[in-house]
Amino acid sequence: MSTTKREGEFDLIDEIRRAAGTALGVPLGIGDDCALVATDPTGQLVTTDMLLDGRHFRLGEHTPEQIGYKALAVNVSDIAAMAGRPRAAFVAVGLPRGDAPALARGLLAGMLPLAERFGVALAGGDTNAWEGPLVVSLTLLGDPVPPGVVRRGGGRAGDVVFVTGPLGGSLLGRHLRPEPRVKEALALHAAVDLHAMIDLSDGLSSDLPHILEESGGLGATLEAPWIPIHPDAARMAERTGKTAIAHALDDGEDFELCFSVDAETALRLEASPPAGVMVHRIGVLESRPGLRLRQDGVERLIRPGGFDHFREAGTR
Ligand code: ADP
Ligand code: MG
Repeated sequence: MSTTKREGEFDLIDEIRRAAGTALGVPLGIGDDCALVATDPTGQLVTTDMLLDGRHFRLGEHTPEQIGYKALAVNVSDIAAMAGRPRAAFVAVGLPRGDAPALARGLLAGMLPLAERFGVALAGGDTNAWEGPLVVSLTLLGDPVPPGVVRRGGGRAGDVVFVTGPLGGSLLGRHLRPEPRVKEALALHAAVDLHAMIDLSDGLSSDLPHILEESGGLGATLEAPWIPIHPDAARMAERTGKTAIAHALDDGEDFELCFSVDAETALRLEASPPAGVMVHRIGVLESRPGLRLRQDGVERLIRPGGFDHFREAGTR
């Protein structure tokens, strides 16, 4: 970059630095060659998600604030899915030249209130302007919470499967403002022995199979009447001609948590869920592989119908 452009970048980084402020547990944030983060002795959760213009959002249709919010929210959701506590975020941006500072400010305005709400320090990043489209890559560190992280692979046959909220139709707008389920995850983690957990980013029919595979090739049967269907799924169904339950199963970007616990714990959890946490039983894990839906006494196999980045083109 030329000197003046570099200077512009430095001013911008100064501005970001002031806006980010300081945070407990991050003795060095923005401003040096590296950040220094006080890490949890039991390990550090690290997750990265990249959002690309034309792929995950469209600049023009979506505001920089919405994009900034989402870039942070999807990462916070990943930390929640491990029952961790989010801590420090690193944001690398490729800004289209021309509107770069305004865009950077917009992204920041979307991120900071969410960061504050979830106790996340904006601790560093990288700023580049180029001729290409907007790229936002966010890396988030999080702390494991005793008795340890909850993995996808801890499911056992006989476990009951739950989700933390109604599913489907998020593309009608909820996908722009997902609410990461950190409080829910931590409350559940404190209350019961969570065997397996995942956040629903690609959709239940795509994400639950990750638990099944990682848990040693289990299967699951879901009970159609038990699946909480979001009103947006029903509205979506009117437009697409698909059923509301198909939207609940296959639509992505709900960012609810899906988890499993043993059958006895499930009853206890339903009898007294942690304050402010919704738990919906949707089915059971079984040793018979495959994901099945039971509806009106008929069982059918569900294939991953969620979005697959390698199969389908388009944006969402
Ligand atoms: P270096 O060239 O040594 O990597 P930079 O000039 O890229 O340093 O960055 C200076 C400081 O500003 C670093 O602490 C870096 O993490 C931070 N930073 C740069 N861009 C951003 C951004 N978009 N958001 C947050 N922090 C940033
Ligand atoms: Mg740099």
